[in-house]
Amino acid sequence: MARLFFALWPDEATRDALAKAAAHVDVREGRRVRPANLHLTLAFLGNVPAAAQTALMAGEPAPSAAAFTLDVGLAGWWRSSRVAWLAPLEEPLALHALQAAVSDAADAAGLPVECRPYRPHVTIARHVRRAPRSLEAFEVRWQVTDFALVESLQGAVGAHYEVRRRWPLAGRVGN
Ligand code: ATP
Ligand code: MG
Repeated sequence: MARLFFALWPDEATRDALAKAAAHVDVREGRRVRPANLHLTLAFLGNVPAAAQTALMAGEPAPSAAAFTLDVGLAGWWRSSRVAWLAPLEEPLALHALQAAVSDAADAAGLPVECRPYRPHVTIARHVRRAPRSLEAFEVRWQVTDFALVESLQGAVGAHYEVRRRWPLAGRVGN
C-alpha cells in the first residue's frame, strides 16, 4: 500500500516564488510546510493497494485536460482544519476539469473519492489556530503544464513526498 495523491507539482522557479509568498504570511503559531513540500492537491487517494497503483501509473488519467495558468495571489486559512494556505485569484475551468478527470480515474481504479466541493489551495502551515496576517501583497504566476501522482511518506521530520509519475497537459498555457 502507498499513500498517494494527484497534485500540481511546481517547477523550481514557481516553488521558490510560492515559498517567498508563503514567507510573507505571518502564521504566528503554526507549523510551516517546508518549501520542498509545497504543492496543490488535485485529489487525495489515501492508502492505495498495489494493483490500483499499477493501474493508475500505467493509465492516462486526464487525456484531454489542457494546460493553464494559475495566478496565486490570495492567502487565508480555515479554522476547522487549522490550515493556512495560498490560493489562485481565479480558478480556471481547466483546473476544475483536470480535478474532475483525475477523480474519475481514481474512481475507475476502485478508490474512494472526495465528494466535497473542490477548493484548490497550497497549504503553507498546519496547526494554525489564529487568522494569519498577510505582510505583503504577492502574485505568483504558475504555468501549469503537467500534473503528478505523488506518494506521501512519513519521515522523522513529518511528511515527505516523492513524485511517482508526471503527465503532460495538452496545448500551450493560456495568457
Ligand atoms: P501530515 O499529515 O503528516 O501532517 P500532509 O497532510 O502533508 O502531512 P498527507 O496527509 O499524506 O500529508 O497528505 C498529502 C496531501 O493530501 C496534502 O496536500 C493534504 O493536504 C492532502 N490531504 C490529506 N488528507 C486529505 C483528505 N482527507 N482530503 C483531502 N485532502 C487530503
Ligand atoms: Mg495530512
